[in-house]
Amino acid sequence: MLKDNLTKVEENIVNACERAGRKREEVTLIAVSKTKPVEVLQEAYDLGIRVFGENKVQELVDKYEALPKDIQWHMIGHLQTNKVKYIIGKVEMIHSVDSLKLAQTIEKESAKKNCVTKILVEVNVAEEESKFGMHMEDVLPFVEKLSTFEHIQVCGLMTIAPFVENSEDNRKIFKNLHKLSVDIMGKNVDNRNEHVLSMGMTNDYEVAIEEGATMVRVGTGIFGVRNYF
Ligand SMILES: *Cc1c(COP(=O)(O)O)cnc(C)c1O
Repeated sequence: MLKDNLTKVEENIVNACERAGRKREEVTLIAVSKTKPVEVLQEAYDLGIRVFGENKVQELVDKYEALPKDIQWHMIGHLQTNKVKYIIGKVEMIHSVDSLKLAQTIEKESAKKNCVTKILVEVNVAEEESKFGMHMEDVLPFVEKLSTFEHIQVCGLMTIAPFVENSEDNRKIFKNLHKLSVDIMGKNVDNRNEHVLSMGMTNDYEVAIEEGATMVRVGTGIFGVRNYF
């Protein structure tokens, strides 16, 4: 099942890239493995997957310890400042930075470990009250502030789009995040030298790719429905 799902997702990504006139290499597939046991991740690893996304610190660290060291781990969930220290040096990127306090903690803990942590700024494009993330208009000043942080590299922007029946309904959200990214890049803020756009999940990653996503976070589409317990 896992193999078929991966084949299907890969095919969809290739087709979306083609429709958008983009190269397949421009898009990184993050396999969102939250709630799934280590054996299932190992199975995905054996099928060639090297990039995994997790949303809880303890779970990420446990899986990090248990699985091969050439895996790139992406922290995609809301992050509490008191837990930052557990993942610095282990994660490839933190997608969910949405406050100065969190950024300061990442800076401090990265300095302690003498490393630079890649981050994305999470943006609440749809302005949903239930969601984390910054308002669009606060992103540029925030990114400018972070440009003096020596142990943080701001790589781009991330959003979690609303749950919708029809993925077309989120196209506008993705367009808006892309536009914001282009605007900020135009400003040449110092340590903002990549342009990652992390957007699109199982229900809407194809539309997200058409609108410029460079990272898509796919869970259910790869691993099937999650069991919460
Ligand atoms: C769970 C999760 C995903 C994956 O969601 P699916 O709909 O299962 O693909 C993507 N991004 C974030 C931030 C998540 O928490």
